[in-house]
Amino acid sequence: MSEKPFWETVPLDKMTTEQWESLCDGCGKCCLLKLEDEDTLELAYTNVVCRLLDMGSCQCTRYPERSRLVPDCITLTPEIIPNLRWMPRTCAYRLLSEGKQLPWWHPLVSGDPDTVHQAGISVRGRVISERRAGDLEDHIVDWPDENIE
Ligand code: SF4
Ligand code: SF4
Repeated sequence: MSEKPFWETVPLDKMTTEQWESLCDGCGKCCLLKLEDEDTLELAYTNVVCRLLDMGSCQCTRYPERSRLVPDCITLTPEIIPNLRWMPRTCAYRLLSEGKQLPWWHPLVSGDPDTVHQAGISVRGRVISERRAGDLEDHIVDWPDENIE
């Protein structure tokens, strides 16, 4: 009988730093810029990503310093995840906090960091950088599976 993997047995708030960090599938969707309607507080996704995202690998180029360089960049913790209504539905932190399974394309499940791209989950090839985007209002898009609640 095979042992269950750590993400099915260890609660989010009991994971080691290494386990916690490995949950990130590398999709880059939390690095998409969002717009909030001042009156209704409704959020909309854009196809524009943070200037520090490598759009090929979908990794943050300055991960250790991200909070200092981008004050809007939120450091995820088990406590705040349930309150982040804009977190992508496919995000492993969200899935696990909702008691769901990790999907087949998650690198921890597949053993291959490329499956998140092959499955069309990541932002690779579908975004532009905020360095070049101009007015965000011109970049509002619907992301498949990502209706912000
Ligand atoms: S949305 Fe979640 S899984 Fe995707 S890059 Fe962000 S933290 Fe990682
Ligand atoms: S600073 Fe890095 S982790 Fe934060 S939003 Fe930008 S690219 Fe993403």
